[in-house]
Amino acid sequence: MAVLLRIPKTSTTSSSIKSLSSCISRSFSSTALNSETDLKVPSFLSHNSLPLRQEPKDRNVQWVFLGCPGVGKGTYASRLSNFLGVPHIATGDLVREELNSSGPLASQLKEIVNRGKLVSDEIIISLLSKRLEAGESKGESGFILDGFPRTIRQAEILEGVTDVDLVVNLKLQEEALLAKCLGRRICSQCGGNYNVACIDIKGENGKPGIYMAPLPAPAQCVPNLIQRADDTEEVVKERLRIYNEMSQPVEEFYRSRGKLLEFDLPGGIPESWPKLLEALNLDHEDKCSAAA
Ligand code: AMP
Repeated sequence: MAVLLRIPKTSTTSSSIKSLSSCISRSFSSTALNSETDLKVPSFLSHNSLPLRQEPKDRNVQWVFLGCPGVGKGTYASRLSNFLGVPHIATGDLVREELNSSGPLASQLKEIVNRGKLVSDEIIISLLSKRLEAGESKGESGFILDGFPRTIRQAEILEGVTDVDLVVNLKLQEEALLAKCLGRRICSQCGGNYNVACIDIKGENGKPGIYMAPLPAPAQCVPNLIQRADDTEEVVKERLRIYNEMSQPVEEFYRSRGKLLEFDLPGGIPESWPKLLEALNLDHEDKCSAAA
């Protein structure tokens, strides 16, 4: 697959995944905690190893995907991750893994997530650091973060420890977001993400309409389809409210640093994926097959 990446890298020195995990941990443990929980901060959050610096040319892309619940961050971040060979790290997945485990945080996380609230910065940083450390041991380089940062504090911590090259802000009208969340179906076996909703919003008052075809699951996944417990109308509305209150300021944080790329989704995956590649200055020898 011929992939042409024309995004200029920032010229400042950046850290590798290894330094990022330890830097995040150290940076976080040195800030005042304002947890709503009585979580004990794991010991690795306070270790003091020196960051291992890498020249920008030696590392891969360091991108962040922002956007409201249901906008498709996971879909496009995961496609780009395959396209560029960079790990896709979704903090929502890390949270779900933890809440489905028998770990000590499971019931606390379930309660928070199922009400549509944000998990505390402490817990998120802890889960992210663990994921970065695991990636580091496998030799991962670069990242596409999805669902992090979601608060200004998380953004400040990330900005303090590494150079994010680019922040993609995916946008879709609220009516479509709600329908997409309610129509989302996940294969409990392979984790595949599908959608039963057929979204057809007519344009009015100068606002463009949007059509998004359903994304059907393949036959082998159909018996295993489940809905996320936080994809109910009441909880999605709460997640959208919290996004507007806590996460929208993160857009401005990156806009003011010249890192934000606004991307209005023009439709479903077949219309949006080639346009996203174009907006990202990514070239593919066969954009049609990339859209399949
Ligand atoms: P998502 O899959 O991104 O919609 O995330 C699912 C849930 O995980 C969210 O509604 C939050 O409860 C929690 N979560 C994920 N990422 C974060 C984050 N960066 N900060 C706080 N909570 C998060």
